Amino acid sequence: MRDDNCIFCKIANGDIPSDTIYEDEEFRVILDLSPASKGHALILPKTHAANLFELDDEICAKVLILAKKIGKAMQTALCCDGINIVQNNGEAAGQTVMHFHVHIIPRYNGEKQIVAWEPKQSIPEEQREIVEKIKTALI
Ligand code: 5GP
Ligand code: ZN
Repeated sequence: MRDDNCIFCKIANGDIPSDTIYEDEEFRVILDLSPASKGHALILPKTHAANLFELDDEICAKVLILAKKIGKAMQTALCCDGINIVQNNGEAAGQTVMHFHVHIIPRYNGEKQIVAWEPKQSIPEEQREIVEKIKTALI
């Protein structure tokens, strides 16, 4: 299904032109308009899902395989030294466009880290509590 108010639905289905590097029946892969690095691309499913948790399982299963294919092509074509695969869900996680997408970000030696966090001290008791809570939610 498409969402008529969603810009990525329009781009993915070709209603709005984009720098497309790959397309098949289910996906379009485009260059990011405001790239974090040279070659920064986005995998867009053609059907609308706001985030990973709304995504159809069949599409979900294909996404990482496609990310691998695109990443390999980037290694050959752009001679990048590494690749970040990033996928944000929800505003708190930095998602700005509410149509599921995967960032494929080629990385080059000497450039600043862009996917980084400040490691904090873990608290054993809290860790055990988290393990129990999540294990319960998985049942
Ligand atoms: P998010 O923060 O939601 O994970 O990532 C959204 C990404 O989409 C950003 O990197 C942003 O630059 C990119 N973006 C937003 N609008 C457009 C657009 O109209 N065209 C393209 N190619 N990229 C877009
Ligand atoms: Zn959409």
